[in-house]
Amino acid sequence: MTDKHYATLQREMSAQISAGDLLERSLAYGSEYLSNAHARSVAPGEDAQKALAMFREPLPTSTGDAAKIIDELHALGSPATVAQTGGRFFGLVNGGCIPASLAARLLADVWDQNAVLHATSPTAAALESVCEAWLKELFGLPESTVAGFVTGTSIAIVLGLAAARWRICARRGYDVNARGLAGAPPLRIVTGRHAHSTVIKAVALLGLGTANIEWAEVDEQGRLLPETLPELDDSCIVILQAGNVNSGAFDPLRTVGGAARDSGAWVHIDGAFGLWAAAAAATRHLADGLELADSWSVDGHKTLNTPYDNGIALCRDAEALTGALENSGAYIMYSQERDSSRYTPELSRRARGVELWAALKYLGRDGIDALVTHLHARARQFSEELSAAGFAILNDVVFNQVLVEIGNQETTDAFVLRVRASGEAWVGASAWFGKPVVRISVCSWATTPDDVSRTVAAFEAARKSQETV
Ligand SMILES: *Cc1c(COP(=O)(O)O)cnc(C)c1O
Repeated sequence: MTDKHYATLQREMSAQISAGDLLERSLAYGSEYLSNAHARSVAPGEDAQKALAMFREPLPTSTGDAAKIIDELHALGSPATVAQTGGRFFGLVNGGCIPASLAARLLADVWDQNAVLHATSPTAAALESVCEAWLKELFGLPESTVAGFVTGTSIAIVLGLAAARWRICARRGYDVNARGLAGAPPLRIVTGRHAHSTVIKAVALLGLGTANIEWAEVDEQGRLLPETLPELDDSCIVILQAGNVNSGAFDPLRTVGGAARDSGAWVHIDGAFGLWAAAAAATRHLADGLELADSWSVDGHKTLNTPYDNGIALCRDAEALTGALENSGAYIMYSQERDSSRYTPELSRRARGVELWAALKYLGRDGIDALVTHLHARARQFSEELSAAGFAILNDVVFNQVLVEIGNQETTDAFVLRVRASGEAWVGASAWFGKPVVRISVCSWATTPDDVSRTVAAFEAARKSQETV
């Protein structure tokens, strides 16, 4: 491209900014999408998915038309999304999206901040500090706790375990960053049989070895049984769970956390969606003892309903977390202020504290309590209405997860596809103690009592059509 061409391109882009219509176009499509998300089919139709093939084209050689690009994105992309924000999406543990949080995110995207240092984004640093303080208060965490704002709980677990590894080695005068794991003092990993798959992944990623995990047994709800723990000592990293991804059950955090602390072990709590139980009066008892841990992982994008991707690593031992994430380059000048990247594995990153701050500020303590209580109440409604319709519920519905027995693997998988194909709701399959189940996760602010009843009706219809084939 010649200089002349480039000057034209630059003028064109400047004009797009001053005209403002490109963003407005996108926002208009976005608003239309949002207001239709509840009414439309939750799963995209076959035609919409087939149309995605139209994205596949040779790499354009010349400059395009920006407005047409947004038009195409909406025309092809929007219909083939899964309507996760509509209120009848119950798959994985996917939260909805709070409008104020989304709007804040959009503005932050416009700022295009690199939340790496205080100097590159004072706003991002300030809002992260506020979030850190508010989260500590909401969860009742120790004063020394610091927060790293990451993509999700997967990475937050890695950070908790990395801080643990750093601290356990440092206590023995061993610099694990410099010398690595070969020759390191022993590091034991202890967790329950039902630890989330991302815990196992983190153990692997950190070179700790999944085959070295010392497993504790669990009860019929998936809760770790304290009496089956191995003898703990100060070389142990004990990983507990606040919210079993299937049953929603909580490990006995006070009993195990207390014993582990007494032994000098490091305790990490994986509370991706369940840590929020501590923020509601009706569910607070589930998370009793969570403050005894050394590190915690939690998501904003699940129970709190921020947009993706929003997770938080919390660590009582600031030195261990920042030590594990040590980074120095000639051009990195840390300040006396909050330099965000000291708490995260990435250097460059978006200012995801912004949408978290907006969600927390909008809901406030009472709103968060109401949201968590609502999710729990709708899960209980599911349990009651499904039981009344003759479905077997396999877990105690203590939080937002409901496990429904349908039949063998084939029947269960077919059932899931039938419910999705109805457009009425989106659910996933899982396994519970080896038994195939349909798993319902109530995780969106938008779900109404009527959405639950409609989904139960869709379950009954799917069962009926399956009986007749
Ligand atoms: C979702 C989940 C994770 C992983 O979190 P991501 O945000 O998807 O990375 C870990 N543990 C539990 C219990 C979860 O529910």
